[in-house]
Amino acid sequence: MGKTSYKKIVCWNCNVEIVQYYDFKYKGDRGQCPVCGVNFPLE
Ligand SMILES: [Zn+2]
Repeated sequence: MGKTSYKKIVCWNCNVEIVQYYDFKYKGDRGQCPVCGVNFPLE
């Protein structure tokens, strides 16, 4: 498939789609759940 294209990720808690964004502090892509707020780096 595509190299770095985002794929849909769903929260393992809420089963809603994760919001993906670039974090300049971490210099990397991160994902956050808009419902429970879980935040994690995207590989
Ligand atoms: Zn969640």
